Amino acid sequence: MADTVEKVPTVVESSSSSVEAPVIADKTEPTTTEKKKWGDVEDDDEEEAVSELNSLTIKEEEKSDSVLEEPEDSNIKAVVSGDTPYTSASRFEDLNLSPELMKGLYVEMKFEKPSKIQAISLPMIMTPPHKHLIAQAHNGSGKTTCFVLGMLSRVDPKLAEPQALCICPTRELANQNMDVLQRMGKFTGITAELAVPESTRGGPSAPRRGPVTAHVVIGTPGTLKRWMSFKRLGLNHLKILVFDEADHMLATDGFRDDSLKIMKDIGRVNPNFQVLLFSATFNETVKDFVARTVKDPNQLFVKREDLALDSVKQFKVLCPKEENKIEVIKDQIMELGDIGQTIIFVRTRVSAGKVHKALAEMGYDVTSVHGNMSEVDRDKIVKEFKDCLTQVLIATDVIARGFDQQRVNLVVNYNLPTKYETGEPDYEVYLHRVGRAGRFGRKGAVFNLLLDDGGDKEVMDKIEKYFGANVKEIKSWNSEEEYKSALKEAGLLDE
Ligand code: ADP
Ligand code: MG
Repeated sequence: MADTVEKVPTVVESSSSSVEAPVIADKTEPTTTEKKKWGDVEDDDEEEAVSELNSLTIKEEEKSDSVLEEPEDSNIKAVVSGDTPYTSASRFEDLNLSPELMKGLYVEMKFEKPSKIQAISLPMIMTPPHKHLIAQAHNGSGKTTCFVLGMLSRVDPKLAEPQALCICPTRELANQNMDVLQRMGKFTGITAELAVPESTRGGPSAPRRGPVTAHVVIGTPGTLKRWMSFKRLGLNHLKILVFDEADHMLATDGFRDDSLKIMKDIGRVNPNFQVLLFSATFNETVKDFVARTVKDPNQLFVKREDLALDSVKQFKVLCPKEENKIEVIKDQIMELGDIGQTIIFVRTRVSAGKVHKALAEMGYDVTSVHGNMSEVDRDKIVKEFKDCLTQVLIATDVIARGFDQQRVNLVVNYNLPTKYETGEPDYEVYLHRVGRAGRFGRKGAVFNLLLDDGGDKEVMDKIEKYFGANVKEIKSWNSEEEYKSALKEAGLLDE
Protein backbone atom coordinates (compact mmCIF):
# COMPACT_ATOMS: atom_id res chain seq x y z
CA MET A 1 0.00 0.00 0.00
CA ALA A 2 1.49 3.31 -0.99
CA ASP A 3 1.50 6.21 1.42
CA THR A 4 0.38 9.49 0.13
CA VAL A 5 2.73 12.34 0.83
CA GLU A 6 0.47 15.14 1.80
CA LYS A 7 1.05 18.59 0.63
CA VAL A 8 2.05 21.24 3.11
CA PRO A 9 2.68 24.90 2.47
CA THR A 10 5.94 25.69 0.81
CA VAL A 11 8.59 26.38 3.35
CA VAL A 12 10.99 28.24 1.18
CA GLU A 13 9.31 31.49 0.42
CA SER A 14 10.23 32.95 -2.88
CA SER A 15 8.46 36.07 -3.98
CA SER A 16 9.28 35.89 -7.65
CA SER A 17 7.49 33.51 -9.95
CA SER A 18 10.06 30.93 -10.79
CA VAL A 19 9.51 30.34 -14.46
CA GLU A 20 12.29 32.02 -16.30
CA ALA A 21 14.92 32.66 -13.68
CA PRO A 22 17.88 30.39 -13.29
CA VAL A 23 18.13 28.33 -10.18
CA ILE A 24 20.47 30.65 -8.43
CA ALA A 25 18.18 32.94 -6.51
CA ASP A 26 20.85 34.56 -4.48
CA LYS A 27 24.40 35.32 -5.25
CA THR A 28 25.64 35.91 -1.77
CA GLU A 29 29.07 35.17 -0.46
CA PRO A 30 30.99 33.40 -3.16
CA THR A 31 33.96 34.09 -0.94
CA THR A 32 37.24 32.56 -1.85
CA THR A 33 37.99 30.94 1.44
CA GLU A 34 41.39 29.54 1.90
CA LYS A 35 40.92 25.85 2.15
CA LYS A 36 42.49 24.72 5.40
CA LYS A 37 42.50 21.03 5.90
CA TRP A 38 43.89 18.25 8.02
CA GLY A 39 44.32 15.61 5.45
CA ASP A 40 43.04 16.15 2.02
CA VAL A 41 39.34 16.79 2.22
CA GLU A 42 38.06 20.10 3.39
CA ASP A 43 36.12 20.43 6.60
CA ASP A 44 32.51 21.29 6.95
CA ASP A 45 30.66 24.28 8.30
CA GLU A 46 29.92 25.20 11.88
CA GLU A 47 26.67 24.04 13.26
CA GLU A 48 23.97 26.19 14.74
CA ALA A 49 20.75 25.52 16.53
CA VAL A 50 18.18 23.41 14.80
CA SER A 51 15.13 25.30 13.68
CA GLU A 52 11.80 23.63 13.49
CA LEU A 53 10.63 22.64 10.07
CA ASN A 54 7.13 23.07 8.95
CA SER A 55 6.90 19.50 7.97
CA LEU A 56 5.05 16.28 7.94
CA THR A 57 6.15 12.81 8.73
CA ILE A 58 5.90 10.03 6.25
CA LYS A 59 4.35 7.02 7.87
CA GLU A 60 6.75 4.21 8.56
CA GLU A 61 6.41 1.52 5.99
CA GLU A 62 5.84 -1.92 7.32
CA LYS A 63 9.08 -3.71 7.91
CA SER A 64 9.68 -6.37 5.32
CA ASP A 65 10.93 -9.67 6.56
CA SER A 66 13.87 -9.78 4.18
CA VAL A 67 17.31 -10.25 5.69
CA LEU A 68 18.34 -6.71 5.13
CA GLU A 69 16.62 -3.85 6.73
CA GLU A 70 17.33 -0.30 5.94
CA PRO A 71 18.35 1.91 8.86
CA GLU A 72 15.64 1.79 11.45
CA ASP A 73 13.53 4.74 12.44
CA SER A 74 14.32 6.49 9.22
CA ASN A 75 12.02 9.23 10.26
CA ILE A 76 12.13 11.37 7.18
CA LYS A 77 10.17 14.60 7.16
CA ALA A 78 8.93 15.92 3.86
CA VAL A 79 8.15 19.46 2.86
CA VAL A 80 6.47 19.57 -0.50
CA SER A 81 6.63 22.68 -2.64
CA GLY A 82 3.74 23.57 -4.89
CA ASP A 83 0.65 21.44 -5.33
CA THR A 84 1.88 18.35 -7.11
CA PRO A 85 0.61 15.35 -5.15
CA TYR A 86 3.24 12.68 -4.67
CA THR A 87 2.54 9.11 -3.76
CA SER A 88 5.40 7.22 -2.24
CA ALA A 89 6.42 4.12 -4.16
CA SER A 90 6.44 1.01 -2.04
CA ARG A 91 7.44 -1.08 -5.07
CA PHE A 92 9.69 -0.29 -8.02
CA GLU A 93 6.67 -1.14 -10.19
CA ASP A 94 4.98 2.02 -8.91
CA LEU A 95 7.56 4.20 -10.64
CA ASN A 96 6.72 3.64 -14.31
CA LEU A 97 10.28 2.71 -15.10
CA SER A 98 11.28 1.23 -18.43
CA PRO A 99 11.60 -2.57 -18.59
CA GLU A 100 15.35 -2.07 -19.12
CA LEU A 101 15.68 -0.14 -15.86
CA MET A 102 13.52 -2.64 -13.99
CA LYS A 103 15.83 -5.37 -15.22
CA GLY A 104 18.82 -3.36 -14.03
CA LEU A 105 17.29 -3.08 -10.56
CA TYR A 106 16.18 -6.66 -10.17
CA VAL A 107 18.68 -8.65 -12.21
CA GLU A 108 21.85 -6.60 -11.98
CA MET A 109 21.46 -4.85 -8.62
CA LYS A 110 19.36 -7.64 -7.09
CA PHE A 111 17.19 -5.14 -5.23
CA GLU A 112 13.80 -6.27 -4.08
CA LYS A 113 12.05 -3.11 -3.11
CA PRO A 114 12.78 0.56 -2.66
CA SER A 115 14.23 1.76 0.62
CA LYS A 116 12.31 4.48 2.35
CA ILE A 117 14.24 7.39 0.91
CA GLN A 118 13.86 5.81 -2.53
CA ALA A 119 10.14 5.31 -2.04
CA ILE A 120 9.62 8.94 -1.08
CA SER A 121 12.13 10.76 -3.25
CA LEU A 122 11.81 8.92 -6.57
CA PRO A 123 8.24 10.10 -7.29
CA MET A 124 9.33 13.64 -6.42
CA ILE A 125 12.28 13.42 -8.78
CA MET A 126 10.43 11.80 -11.65
CA THR A 127 7.06 13.54 -11.64
CA PRO A 128 6.72 16.67 -13.76
CA PRO A 129 7.31 19.55 -13.24
CA HIS A 130 10.53 17.94 -11.98
CA LYS A 131 11.02 20.19 -9.01
CA HIS A 132 14.35 20.57 -7.33
CA LEU A 133 14.92 18.28 -4.38
CA ILE A 134 16.97 18.61 -1.22
CA ALA A 135 17.10 15.18 0.32
CA GLN A 136 18.65 14.15 3.59
CA ALA A 137 18.64 10.50 4.58
CA HIS A 138 20.76 8.21 6.72
CA ASN A 139 24.13 6.92 5.73
CA GLY A 140 23.79 3.68 3.82
CA SER A 141 20.09 4.10 3.15
CA GLY A 142 20.38 4.01 -0.64
CA LYS A 143 20.58 7.64 -1.75
CA THR A 144 22.73 6.78 -4.77
CA THR A 145 19.90 4.80 -6.28
CA CYS A 146 17.60 7.82 -5.92
CA PHE A 147 19.72 10.09 -8.05
CA VAL A 148 21.07 7.42 -10.39
CA LEU A 149 17.53 6.27 -11.22
CA GLY A 150 16.54 9.92 -11.45
CA MET A 151 19.23 10.54 -14.06
CA LEU A 152 18.67 7.30 -15.97
CA SER A 153 14.93 7.75 -16.17
CA ARG A 154 15.14 11.29 -17.47
CA VAL A 155 17.76 10.79 -20.15
CA ASP A 156 16.77 10.32 -23.78
CA PRO A 157 19.07 7.55 -25.07
CA LYS A 158 18.50 8.62 -28.66
CA LEU A 159 20.08 12.02 -28.13
CA ALA A 160 23.87 11.81 -28.08
CA GLU A 161 24.38 14.80 -25.77
CA PRO A 162 25.08 15.14 -22.06
CA GLN A 163 21.72 15.40 -20.34
CA ALA A 164 22.54 14.57 -16.74
CA LEU A 165 25.45 15.68 -14.61
CA CYS A 166 26.48 14.38 -11.19
CA ILE A 167 29.08 16.21 -9.12
CA CYS A 168 30.94 14.50 -6.28
CA PRO A 169 33.55 15.72 -3.81
CA THR A 170 36.15 13.01 -4.48
CA ARG A 171 37.34 10.85 -7.34
CA GLU A 172 36.55 7.75 -5.28
CA LEU A 173 32.93 8.76 -5.03
CA ALA A 174 32.72 9.70 -8.69
CA ASN A 175 34.15 6.27 -9.59
CA GLN A 176 31.73 4.55 -7.27
CA ASN A 177 28.69 6.42 -8.55
CA MET A 178 29.79 5.66 -12.09
CA ASP A 179 29.91 1.95 -11.27
CA VAL A 180 26.42 2.05 -9.82
CA LEU A 181 25.07 3.97 -12.80
CA GLN A 182 26.64 1.61 -15.28
CA ARG A 183 25.29 -1.43 -13.50
CA MET A 184 21.81 -0.06 -12.97
CA GLY A 185 21.66 1.24 -16.52
CA LYS A 186 23.27 -1.86 -18.03
CA PHE A 187 20.27 -2.71 -20.25
CA THR A 188 19.31 0.84 -21.23
CA GLY A 189 21.94 1.77 -23.78
CA ILE A 190 22.60 4.94 -21.80
CA THR A 191 26.24 5.98 -21.89
CA ALA A 192 28.26 7.73 -19.22
CA GLU A 193 31.62 9.41 -18.91
CA LEU A 194 33.78 10.04 -15.90
CA ALA A 195 35.21 13.52 -15.33
CA VAL A 196 37.98 13.16 -12.76
CA PRO A 197 41.60 14.26 -12.96
CA GLU A 198 42.98 12.39 -15.91
CA SER A 199 45.77 9.91 -16.35
CA THR A 200 44.45 6.90 -14.61
CA ARG A 201 41.24 5.30 -15.67
CA GLY A 202 41.79 3.37 -18.84
CA GLY A 203 39.15 1.82 -20.99
CA PRO A 204 36.00 3.62 -22.00
CA SER A 205 36.56 6.53 -19.63
CA ALA A 206 40.06 7.32 -20.84
CA PRO A 207 40.51 10.97 -21.68
CA ARG A 208 39.80 11.96 -25.21
CA ARG A 209 39.40 15.14 -27.14
CA GLY A 210 36.28 16.62 -28.59
CA PRO A 211 32.92 17.26 -27.02
CA VAL A 212 31.40 14.70 -24.71
CA THR A 213 28.57 12.75 -26.31
CA ALA A 214 27.81 10.50 -23.33
CA HIS A 215 24.33 10.93 -21.87
CA VAL A 216 25.52 11.16 -18.29
CA VAL A 217 28.66 12.76 -16.89
CA ILE A 218 29.87 12.06 -13.35
CA GLY A 219 32.86 13.87 -11.94
CA THR A 220 34.63 16.15 -9.53
CA PRO A 221 34.24 19.95 -9.65
CA GLY A 222 37.67 20.94 -10.95
CA THR A 223 37.62 18.65 -13.95
CA LEU A 224 34.01 19.46 -14.72
CA LYS A 225 34.72 23.18 -14.64
CA ARG A 226 37.64 22.68 -16.97
CA TRP A 227 35.58 20.63 -19.39
CA MET A 228 32.91 23.28 -19.34
CA SER A 229 35.27 26.13 -20.03
CA PHE A 230 37.00 24.23 -22.84
CA LYS A 231 33.59 23.51 -24.34
CA ARG A 232 34.13 19.81 -24.02
CA LEU A 233 31.02 19.52 -21.93
CA GLY A 234 28.03 21.05 -23.68
CA LEU A 235 25.29 22.31 -21.42
CA ASN A 236 22.46 22.85 -23.91
CA HIS A 237 20.69 19.58 -23.22
CA LEU A 238 21.39 19.22 -19.50
CA LYS A 239 18.17 18.69 -17.65
CA ILE A 240 19.28 17.27 -14.35
CA LEU A 241 22.16 18.22 -12.05
CA VAL A 242 22.99 16.10 -9.02
CA PHE A 243 25.16 16.98 -6.06
CA ASP A 244 26.19 13.96 -4.03
CA GLU A 245 27.36 14.90 -0.52
CA ALA A 246 25.60 18.15 -1.29
CA ASP A 247 26.21 19.84 2.06
CA HIS A 248 29.92 19.54 1.51
CA MET A 249 29.58 20.65 -2.09
CA LEU A 250 27.85 23.83 -0.91
CA ALA A 251 29.87 24.60 2.22
CA THR A 252 32.18 27.60 2.15
CA ASP A 253 35.07 25.40 3.19
CA GLY A 254 34.00 22.77 0.70
CA PHE A 255 33.24 23.37 -2.95
CA ARG A 256 30.73 26.20 -2.75
CA ASP A 257 32.30 28.46 -5.35
CA ASP A 258 32.74 25.70 -7.91
CA SER A 259 29.25 24.38 -7.35
CA LEU A 260 27.70 27.82 -7.72
CA LYS A 261 29.62 28.49 -10.87
CA ILE A 262 28.52 25.23 -12.43
CA MET A 263 24.89 25.87 -11.48
CA LYS A 264 25.02 29.36 -12.90
CA ASP A 265 26.61 28.28 -16.15
CA ILE A 266 23.96 25.63 -16.67
CA GLY A 267 21.17 28.00 -15.63
CA ARG A 268 22.28 30.51 -18.21
CA VAL A 269 21.61 28.18 -21.14
CA ASN A 270 19.03 25.97 -19.55
CA PRO A 271 16.84 27.70 -17.00
CA ASN A 272 14.55 24.77 -16.31
CA PHE A 273 17.05 22.18 -15.25
CA GLN A 274 16.37 20.17 -12.13
CA VAL A 275 18.77 20.16 -9.18
CA LEU A 276 19.00 17.23 -6.78
CA LEU A 277 20.94 17.64 -3.55
CA PHE A 278 21.65 14.53 -1.51
CA SER A 279 23.47 14.04 1.78
CA ALA A 280 23.15 12.39 5.17
CA THR A 281 24.03 15.72 6.79
CA PHE A 282 22.81 19.25 6.27
CA ASN A 283 23.80 21.56 9.08
CA GLU A 284 21.81 24.73 9.59
CA THR A 285 24.32 27.00 7.87
CA VAL A 286 24.33 24.91 4.72
CA LYS A 287 20.58 24.38 4.90
CA ASP A 288 20.02 28.14 5.01
CA PHE A 289 22.34 28.69 2.12
CA VAL A 290 20.70 25.98 0.05
CA ALA A 291 17.28 27.45 0.79
CA ARG A 292 18.45 30.78 -0.60
CA THR A 293 20.12 29.18 -3.59
CA VAL A 294 17.79 26.56 -4.97
CA LYS A 295 14.29 27.78 -5.64
CA ASP A 296 11.11 26.13 -4.37
CA PRO A 297 12.56 22.71 -3.81
CA ASN A 298 10.84 19.68 -2.37
CA GLN A 299 12.63 18.86 0.85
CA LEU A 300 13.31 15.76 2.88
CA PHE A 301 15.00 16.02 6.24
CA VAL A 302 15.97 13.85 9.17
CA LYS A 303 16.35 15.24 12.70
CA ARG A 304 19.90 15.28 13.96
CA GLU A 305 19.11 12.99 16.89
CA ASP A 306 17.63 10.44 14.51
CA LEU A 307 20.68 10.30 12.27
CA ALA A 308 22.81 7.84 14.24
CA LEU A 309 22.58 4.31 12.90
CA ASP A 310 21.12 1.96 15.49
CA SER A 311 22.77 -1.00 13.80
CA VAL A 312 26.25 0.44 14.41
CA LYS A 313 27.43 0.37 18.02
CA GLN A 314 29.84 3.06 19.10
CA PHE A 315 32.58 2.66 21.72
CA LYS A 316 35.36 4.81 23.13
CA VAL A 317 38.66 3.81 24.67
CA LEU A 318 40.92 6.03 26.73
CA CYS A 319 44.52 5.27 25.86
CA PRO A 320 47.22 6.54 28.23
CA LYS A 321 49.72 7.09 25.42
CA GLU A 322 49.75 7.41 21.65
CA GLU A 323 51.60 4.08 21.29
CA ASN A 324 48.75 2.36 23.06
CA LYS A 325 46.49 3.17 20.16
CA ILE A 326 48.69 1.08 17.90
CA GLU A 327 48.63 -1.68 20.49
CA VAL A 328 44.84 -1.59 20.56
CA ILE A 329 44.72 -1.91 16.80
CA LYS A 330 47.32 -4.66 16.78
CA ASP A 331 46.17 -6.75 19.75
CA GLN A 332 42.46 -6.20 19.67
CA ILE A 333 41.48 -5.34 16.13
CA MET A 334 43.95 -7.10 13.84
CA GLU A 335 43.66 -10.29 15.84
CA LEU A 336 39.95 -10.61 15.30
CA GLY A 337 40.24 -12.77 12.25
CA ASP A 338 37.66 -12.77 9.57
CA ILE A 339 34.86 -10.64 10.88
CA GLY A 340 34.77 -8.31 7.90
CA GLN A 341 36.72 -5.32 6.69
CA THR A 342 38.00 -2.42 8.76
CA ILE A 343 38.67 1.24 8.03
CA ILE A 344 41.02 3.12 10.36
CA PHE A 345 40.52 6.86 10.09
CA VAL A 346 43.43 9.17 10.83
CA ARG A 347 43.67 12.92 10.74
CA THR A 348 46.59 13.54 8.42
CA ARG A 349 48.56 11.71 5.82
CA VAL A 350 51.50 11.82 8.23
CA SER A 351 49.53 9.82 10.79
CA ALA A 352 48.40 7.54 7.99
CA GLY A 353 52.03 6.85 7.18
CA LYS A 354 52.92 6.34 10.82
CA VAL A 355 50.14 3.90 11.57
CA HIS A 356 50.75 2.08 8.31
CA LYS A 357 54.45 1.71 9.03
CA ALA A 358 53.94 0.55 12.60
CA LEU A 359 51.48 -2.14 11.57
CA ALA A 360 53.47 -3.22 8.53
CA GLU A 361 56.59 -3.59 10.67
CA MET A 362 54.69 -5.93 12.92
CA GLY A 363 53.90 -8.02 9.89
CA TYR A 364 50.33 -6.94 9.28
CA ASP A 365 48.97 -6.54 5.81
CA VAL A 366 47.43 -3.09 5.63
CA THR A 367 47.03 -0.43 2.97
CA SER A 368 46.39 3.28 3.19
CA VAL A 369 44.78 5.98 1.13
CA HIS A 370 45.03 9.76 1.30
CA GLY A 371 44.86 12.72 -1.02
CA ASN A 372 48.56 13.10 -1.48
CA MET A 373 49.00 9.89 -3.40
CA SER A 374 49.14 9.52 -7.14
CA GLU A 375 45.79 8.88 -8.76
CA VAL A 376 46.99 5.49 -9.97
CA ASP A 377 47.88 4.39 -6.45
CA ARG A 378 44.72 5.82 -4.97
CA ASP A 379 42.53 3.96 -7.43
CA LYS A 380 44.51 0.76 -7.01
CA ILE A 381 44.35 0.73 -3.19
CA VAL A 382 40.62 1.46 -3.18
CA LYS A 383 39.91 -1.16 -5.82
CA GLU A 384 41.83 -3.80 -3.89
CA PHE A 385 39.81 -2.99 -0.81
CA LYS A 386 36.55 -3.04 -2.74
CA ASP A 387 37.52 -6.40 -4.23
CA CYS A 388 38.18 -7.64 -0.68
CA LEU A 389 41.82 -8.36 -1.49
CA THR A 390 42.76 -6.28 1.54
CA GLN A 391 41.05 -6.28 4.91
CA VAL A 392 42.29 -3.16 6.67
CA LEU A 393 42.42 0.27 5.10
CA ILE A 394 43.99 3.26 6.81
CA ALA A 395 42.44 6.45 5.49
CA THR A 396 42.18 10.16 5.91
CA ASP A 397 38.78 11.74 5.44
CA VAL A 398 39.15 11.37 1.70
CA ILE A 399 36.86 8.35 2.02
CA ALA A 400 34.89 9.52 5.07
CA ARG A 401 31.91 10.35 2.90
CA GLY A 402 29.94 8.16 0.58
CA PHE A 403 32.34 5.24 0.34
CA ASP A 404 30.19 2.14 0.09
CA GLN A 405 31.65 -1.22 0.92
CA GLN A 406 29.14 -3.60 2.41
CA ARG A 407 31.74 -5.77 4.12
CA VAL A 408 33.08 -2.93 6.24
CA ASN A 409 31.74 -3.54 9.71
CA LEU A 410 34.45 -1.98 11.82
CA VAL A 411 35.49 1.66 11.86
CA VAL A 412 38.33 2.84 14.07
CA ASN A 413 38.82 6.51 14.74
CA TYR A 414 42.54 6.65 15.43
CA ASN A 415 42.04 10.41 15.62
CA LEU A 416 38.70 12.05 16.22
CA PRO A 417 37.59 14.37 13.45
CA THR A 418 38.13 18.02 14.37
CA LYS A 419 38.18 21.27 12.47
CA TYR A 420 41.56 22.45 11.35
CA GLU A 421 41.21 26.03 12.53
CA THR A 422 39.39 25.65 15.83
CA GLY A 423 39.98 22.11 17.02
CA GLU A 424 36.22 21.87 17.52
CA PRO A 425 34.61 18.54 16.67
CA ASP A 426 33.69 18.02 13.05
CA TYR A 427 30.28 16.57 13.71
CA GLU A 428 29.33 15.87 10.14
CA VAL A 429 32.57 14.06 9.38
CA TYR A 430 32.13 11.96 12.52
CA LEU A 431 28.71 10.86 11.38
CA HIS A 432 29.93 10.07 7.90
CA ARG A 433 32.86 8.03 9.20
CA VAL A 434 30.54 5.98 11.40
CA GLY A 435 28.36 5.48 8.36
CA ARG A 436 31.11 3.60 6.50
CA ALA A 437 30.05 0.63 8.62
CA GLY A 438 26.51 -0.66 8.74
CA ARG A 439 25.64 -0.15 5.10
CA PHE A 440 21.94 -0.64 4.39
CA GLY A 441 21.13 -1.79 7.91
CA ARG A 442 24.09 -4.13 8.34
CA LYS A 443 25.72 -4.52 11.74
CA GLY A 444 28.83 -2.62 12.67
CA ALA A 445 31.01 -1.21 15.45
CA VAL A 446 33.06 1.92 15.87
CA PHE A 447 36.01 2.26 18.23
CA ASN A 448 37.04 5.80 19.07
CA LEU A 449 40.59 5.84 20.39
CA LEU A 450 41.07 8.81 22.71
CA LEU A 451 44.23 10.09 24.28
CA ASP A 452 43.82 10.38 27.99
CA ASP A 453 45.70 13.61 28.37
CA GLY A 454 44.57 15.62 25.38
CA GLY A 455 41.32 17.33 24.52
CA ASP A 456 39.90 14.14 23.06
CA LYS A 457 37.51 13.49 25.92
CA GLU A 458 35.96 16.88 25.46
CA VAL A 459 35.64 16.43 21.72
CA MET A 460 34.02 13.04 22.24
CA ASP A 461 31.61 14.46 24.82
CA LYS A 462 30.53 17.16 22.44
CA ILE A 463 29.96 14.68 19.64
CA GLU A 464 27.90 12.47 21.92
CA LYS A 465 25.78 15.38 23.05
CA TYR A 466 25.34 16.73 19.57
CA PHE A 467 23.86 13.53 18.18
CA GLY A 468 22.39 12.30 21.45
CA ALA A 469 24.55 9.25 20.83
CA ASN A 470 25.28 6.50 23.25
CA VAL A 471 29.03 5.86 23.08
CA LYS A 472 29.99 3.19 25.57
CA GLU A 473 33.35 3.27 27.27
CA ILE A 474 35.78 0.36 27.14
CA LYS A 475 37.05 0.74 30.68
CA SER A 476 40.52 -0.70 30.35
CA TRP A 477 42.24 -0.05 27.08
CA ASN A 478 44.03 -3.37 26.94
CA SER A 479 41.37 -5.75 28.11
CA GLU A 480 40.70 -8.33 25.43
CA GLU A 481 37.56 -9.38 27.23
CA GLU A 482 36.06 -5.93 26.99
CA TYR A 483 36.64 -5.67 23.26
CA LYS A 484 35.17 -9.09 22.78
CA SER A 485 32.04 -8.23 24.67
CA ALA A 486 31.79 -4.94 22.76
CA LEU A 487 31.90 -6.86 19.50
CA LYS A 488 29.35 -9.31 20.79
CA GLU A 489 27.11 -6.44 21.73
CA ALA A 490 27.50 -5.09 18.21
CA GLY A 491 26.52 -8.50 16.87
CA LEU A 492 29.87 -9.05 15.17
CA LEU A 493 31.05 -11.93 17.35
CA ASP A 494 29.06 -14.94 18.43
CA GLU A 495 28.25 -15.31 22.09
P1 ADP B 1 23.90 6.23 0.85
O1 ADP B 1 22.50 6.58 1.23
O2 ADP B 1 24.82 6.28 2.02
O3 ADP B 1 24.39 7.00 -0.34
P2 ADP B 1 24.18 3.97 -0.92
O4 ADP B 1 23.38 4.54 -2.01
O5 ADP B 1 25.66 3.94 -1.09
O6 ADP B 1 23.84 4.70 0.46
O7 ADP B 1 23.62 2.50 -0.62
C1 ADP B 1 24.13 1.71 0.42
C2 ADP B 1 24.07 0.24 0.05
O8 ADP B 1 22.71 -0.18 0.00
C3 ADP B 1 24.64 -0.02 -1.33
O9 ADP B 1 25.54 -1.10 -1.23
C4 ADP B 1 23.44 -0.35 -2.18
O10 ADP B 1 23.74 -1.29 -3.19
C5 ADP B 1 22.45 -0.90 -1.19
N1 ADP B 1 21.05 -0.62 -1.57
C6 ADP B 1 20.55 0.57 -1.97
N2 ADP B 1 19.24 0.48 -2.25
C7 ADP B 1 18.88 -0.81 -2.02
C8 ADP B 1 17.64 -1.54 -2.12
N3 ADP B 1 16.52 -0.95 -2.50
N4 ADP B 1 17.66 -2.85 -1.78
C9 ADP B 1 18.81 -3.45 -1.37
N5 ADP B 1 20.01 -2.82 -1.25
C10 ADP B 1 20.05 -1.51 -1.57
MG1 MG C 1 26.00 8.23 -0.69
